[in-house]
Amino acid sequence: MKRAARANINLAALRHNLNRVKQLAPNSKIMAVIKADGYGHGMLRVANALADTDGFAVSCIDEALYLRESAITYPILSLQGYKNERELRYAAEYGVQLVVNNEQQLHLLESIDLPAPVDVWLKVDTGMHRLGFMPEHAGRVYQRLTRLNAVNKPPTLMTHLACADDPQHPMNARQLADFGDAINGLAGKQSIASSGAVLALPHCHRDWVRPGIMLYGSTPLQDGDRSRDDLKTVMTLKAPLISITQARRGDGVGYGGTFECPEDMPVGVVAIGYADGYPRHAPSGTPVMINGRGTQIIGRVSMDMVTIDLRNIDAKLGDEVELWGEAVPVDEVARHVGTISYELLCGVGGRVHFSES
Ligand SMILES: *Cc1c(COP(=O)(O)O)cnc(C)c1O
Repeated sequence: MKRAARANINLAALRHNLNRVKQLAPNSKIMAVIKADGYGHGMLRVANALADTDGFAVSCIDEALYLRESAITYPILSLQGYKNERELRYAAEYGVQLVVNNEQQLHLLESIDLPAPVDVWLKVDTGMHRLGFMPEHAGRVYQRLTRLNAVNKPPTLMTHLACADDPQHPMNARQLADFGDAINGLAGKQSIASSGAVLALPHCHRDWVRPGIMLYGSTPLQDGDRSRDDLKTVMTLKAPLISITQARRGDGVGYGGTFECPEDMPVGVVAIGYADGYPRHAPSGTPVMINGRGTQIIGRVSMDMVTIDLRNIDAKLGDEVELWGEAVPVDEVARHVGTISYELLCGVGGRVHFSES
């Protein structure tokens, strides 16, 4: 009997999802977003599986250098750019493309002598209010960038949508219009779309799309559905049943006794908990699957264990319980927990054993 929780990563599904991006945005190049350890799937595993992409986007220089040290020769883009001169030098040395997000980064670029020029992406903040230059400054920043020997020309022009999970949201049109105004007359490739816009806003595809979550088979859309969008689940998270207890009607289950048994019933104990990334906030009723049968967790999630309802289920010790994956959509689990699939996937913990199929 295996005690450990395990995550299987379906590489064929990952490639299928990349192909979906290609079908949806046939005229765009693809920066596959693999930050946060490939959304919890293993950054290098994902990078090695996605030979058909045009490049990889990560969040920071450390992630980019990890890929370079692991012999990934594709274009790599650091979405947060660089934090200091050291990182900027590394980026030039290892050929990492950089998003220039703010005045400090621009100033650093202007005051340095680099061993080789870098490819930069000029980010315009059209409403996220996180990273990027205000639209009214974009033209001036562009002029400063294109004056530099340290920079390959022209820069790519990018922005990020705050409400891409809701294609009808008026914010999308506003951001698009502001981006259009900001870059009016500036030469350079353009990039707007993360997964939501890849799926639902084709006029945002432009030259480079930046899909993340859809590669992993989860829908970014609020009302999305992985089968309608023809996305295939990549991660399946399972853990074995390590105990079965008989509880009586009225008994509480787990810490705080938050689940009260409505009748005499068998309770299964599964070897996974919040230390493995199964969310502690998952309430009673969150779906799981065992032996092809759907059931639910009951009581609070513990650090190393979770309890499930085994009424009307034929199960024995060692049987595997699917927490999310091919049978139990991670999006459905996320809805129960009150979060998004992104958080669940990238939270899968260090004790979990990974395999590939
Ligand atoms: C994370 C990220 C993406 C990918 O977003 P998804 O919703 O996962 O597709 C794209 N662009 C930027 C700037 C990001 O930070």
